[in-house]
Amino acid sequence: MRVVVIGAGILGSSVAYHLAQKGIEVEIIDEAHQGKATLAGAGIVCPWATKATDPQWYALYAAGAASYAGLIDGLIERGEDDLGYRRVGALIVAETAEELDAADQRIQSRIGNAPEAGYVRRVTAQEAKRLFPPLREDLAGIYIPGGARVNGRLLAAAMTRAAVAMGAVLRHDHVTLDLQDGRPRCLDSSGRTITADEIIVTAGAWASQILRPIGLEHPVAPQRGQIIHIQLPGVETKSWPVLLPMTSHYLLAFDDSRVVVGATREDNTGFDYRVTAGGQAEVLNAGLRFAPGLASGTIIETRIGFRPAGESIKPILGRVPGIEGLIVGNALGASGLSIGPYAGRLLAQLCAGETPDTTIEPYAPAA
Ligand SMILES: Cc1cc2nc3c(=O)[nH]c(=O)nc-3n(C[C@H](O)[C@H](O)[C@H](O)COP(=O)(O)OP(=O)(O)OC[C@H]3O[C@@H](n4cnc5c(N)ncnc54)[C@H](O)[C@@H]3O)c2cc1C
Repeated sequence: MRVVVIGAGILGSSVAYHLAQKGIEVEIIDEAHQGKATLAGAGIVCPWATKATDPQWYALYAAGAASYAGLIDGLIERGEDDLGYRRVGALIVAETAEELDAADQRIQSRIGNAPEAGYVRRVTAQEAKRLFPPLREDLAGIYIPGGARVNGRLLAAAMTRAAVAMGAVLRHDHVTLDLQDGRPRCLDSSGRTITADEIIVTAGAWASQILRPIGLEHPVAPQRGQIIHIQLPGVETKSWPVLLPMTSHYLLAFDDSRVVVGATREDNTGFDYRVTAGGQAEVLNAGLRFAPGLASGTIIETRIGFRPAGESIKPILGRVPGIEGLIVGNALGASGLSIGPYAGRLLAQLCAGETPDTTIEPYAPAA
C-alpha cells in the first residue's frame, strides 16, 4: 500500500511516523505555510485542569497526554532526543478562592484514572512563587506534577525524520486534489499525479482549500494565535512549571532562559499573518498581570499560528464517507500538540486496516 500524507504539522508527522513503523510506504508532502500552527504552538500538555467539558474531546485530550511518555521513549530509542519535552509540572493559580476550589474539584474528578498526573497538591503563595519565580506574591495554587511541555517544532520534525529514516519520503510542495472516476487524486504543483492508494489530509487550517475542489465543505477555519517569547538572560528556567491562571492565557518556560506567554484566540482573521498592536498588548498585559517579574525580560519574538478551529471543540478524524481512499484528520484547535501525536497513531491504524486503540467513530468527518 502507498499512502500520501498532505501536511507535516504535528498530526501529519505523527501519521507518517506511525505508518512507517508498520512498514507502509508513505510520502509526506508539506508546503510549510506561514502560520503553520505546529511552529507557533506553546506546547502545554496538561489536560486535567481544563474548563472545557465536551466528553469526546476530553477523552482524546487525556489519552493524548497519557500516551506522551511512550511516544517520547520510542523517539529517544530511535536517536531523536532533542524534543524540548519535559515533565516540569503545572501550577494552577486563580485570583479567588472560589475559582481555585472549582479548579481543584475539576482536577480531582479527572485524575482518578490518570496516574500520569502524579500526586496533585495545594501550594501556598510562597511555594507557588518559589516554583515560578516571576509570579505575583499573592497567588496560592495547585501543583500537578505530571504537567509537561514540549517544543512542537522539534517533536514534529523528529517524527518526520524518524519516518524518513524508516523509508518514508518527504517532499516540500503545494499539492491539490481532484476526483478521477470517483477516487481522489493528488497532484503536485506542476500538475503531475502523485500515486497513492490512500490519501490522508492533515493540512490544518488550510484543509478546506484542498477539499473544496472535490466537493467537500470542510468545517475548519483558521483561528489566529499570537504568542510572545521573552528571554530572561542568565536565568535558569528549564524546570519552571507551566503556569495556568485559569484564563485563556498561560505561561511556560523552556531551557534557554525563555518564557513563553500565550496567546490570542482571534477568529475571522483569515490567514492574516501579522503581529498586531492589540494582540501584543493583550498577551503582554495578561502575562505581566500574573507574572510581573517578567517586566524586565527581553521580547525576542512573537510567533503567529493559525489554529485549525472546527465548528465544535471536537477533532475530525476518519474516512470521508462516499470517497474511497480519503482520510481526514483536523480541527485540533487549541489542544493539537497534546492530541495530535495520539490522533496520528489512530489514523495510521485506521489506514492500515487495524482497529484504532480508541474508537474514532465519534469524530467521523461529514460526507
Ligand atoms: C499560539 C498557539 C498556541 C498553542 N498552544 C498549544 C498548547 O499549548 N498545547 C496544545 O496542545 N496545542 C496548542 N496549540 C494548538 C496546536 O499548535 C495545533 O492544534 C496543532 O499544531 C495543529 O497541527 P496540524 O498538524 O493539524 O496543523 P499545522 O501544524 O498547521 O500543519 C498543517 C500543515 O499542512 C500544510 N499544508 C496545508 N495545505 C497544504 C497543501 N496544499 N500542500 C502541502 N502542504 C499543505 C501546511 O503548510 C502545514 O505545514 C497552539 C496553537 C497556537 C497557534
